[in-house]
Amino acid sequence: MKLHLLPAHSLLALLGRGEVSAEEVVSSFLHRVEEVEGDLNAFITLFSQDSLTQAREVDKLRAKGERVGRLAGVPIAIKDNICVQGKRMTCGSRMLSNFVPPYDATVVRRLKEEGAIIIGKTNMDEFAMGSSNENSFFGPVKNPFDSQRVSGGSSGGSAAAVSAGEAPMALGSDTGGSVRLPASFCGVVGLKPTYGLVSRFGLVAFASSLDQIGVLTRDVEDCALLLEVIAGYDPQDSTSIDQHLPDLVLEMKKGIKGLRVGLPEEYFSPEVDPQVKEAVLRAVNQLTLEGVEVERVNLPHTTSAIATYYIIADAEASSNLARYDGARYGYRAQGTRVLLDMYSRTRNEGFGDEVKRRIMLGTYVLSSGYYDAYYLQAQKARTLIRKDFEEAFCRCDLLVTPTSPTPAFKLGEKMDDPLLMYLSDSFTVPANLAGLPSLSIPCGMTREGLPIGMQIIGPPLGESQILGLASIYEQVASKGRDGL
Ligand code: GLN
Repeated sequence: MKLHLLPAHSLLALLGRGEVSAEEVVSSFLHRVEEVEGDLNAFITLFSQDSLTQAREVDKLRAKGERVGRLAGVPIAIKDNICVQGKRMTCGSRMLSNFVPPYDATVVRRLKEEGAIIIGKTNMDEFAMGSSNENSFFGPVKNPFDSQRVSGGSSGGSAAAVSAGEAPMALGSDTGGSVRLPASFCGVVGLKPTYGLVSRFGLVAFASSLDQIGVLTRDVEDCALLLEVIAGYDPQDSTSIDQHLPDLVLEMKKGIKGLRVGLPEEYFSPEVDPQVKEAVLRAVNQLTLEGVEVERVNLPHTTSAIATYYIIADAEASSNLARYDGARYGYRAQGTRVLLDMYSRTRNEGFGDEVKRRIMLGTYVLSSGYYDAYYLQAQKARTLIRKDFEEAFCRCDLLVTPTSPTPAFKLGEKMDDPLLMYLSDSFTVPANLAGLPSLSIPCGMTREGLPIGMQIIGPPLGESQILGLASIYEQVASKGRDGL
């Protein structure tokens, strides 16, 4: 049995029945890492020995008949901008290449409490800024379906690791699409929860009004399971939502008859790759056969989303990244004599090009004389984008769109043209600007053999409906594949 190809819920069933040990599970994923990591570059740091030791402990507890957690013995990969106590966390940057956090992020604490085994920290675009995972100090992550192509970013390592069977589940972060875009490029399920549903305590801040930790899994059931474990109120994050979350795995099995799905015209524009459009519309068609009602809707301010996002995200980033000055932690330039020289050389040597570009743009849009024209204007546009969604959700329960206008592109293809790169995020940033939950699920392949992702966006706290629709689609699609 190829354990590394199984989703976590199947592994948990085998573990629960004593048919495999946690040690066998972890070993099988570590072997897989050895096999494919040379091509993929999905991990920055791997915890092979520690994870085997923890697996043996889980096995001992089980053998004694003691209570084990809901994810006991399941390996998980964590994006390298989420703190794991005592383990190096780089954020894909030279700036933090020697940084060891002294505490666990809340999500990591919750995973540990449920017995999950952290097998490593995944590669990412530097400080989560990017759409292709080519902005990492540790080199790009390659797409498991085609090593000439990008994995998508910025959680490219997490998406590639799950896709290639290096881990059954992973955590990522999503500020403007960084969970969903790589999920769609690598053919896995990726969910960005409602803003505030998952604690950001211990996640390195990029743009605090947009950042959310999200999950990447092989299937929808795992997505619900992992979200249940990490979600919930946390007094250590002031934006955390204090509300009880329903049992997602149960809720999502309720059925979808009569569910109203909106197709926003703006997401099916002529710039979208015809194969992507076709695959998503085919999937929608299959859903109508399951009782879903479909109608066309409009989100007229979608065209302003990229400009709005890149002003707000960069403004917040320029302020959040001011803390990396070489004085407190992380990289420090050598041989400087004056404080200002130490600051500027540290930042010049420690940050890569894209991060510098964001800091400069962000500082510019916040500076006096330009604040009103850019930052304030972007905040107004953000309100209009949010209102578009509010109106659409008066008419329908969920929205369905392509996750990205194109499938995975070639390595290097967009590196010299930042604007073209930013346009990859056209369909993912609106959900962040409006704080909405949104999921990407594989919905077919291109003729070249590249995965295509379908995005399902819901109203605030609409995770269980999103998962319900995704789970029905998953069943329909797998029937189609098996020719039943
Ligand atoms: N690609 C977007 C950016 O570069 C989104 C990144 C993210 O979600 N972390 O800002």
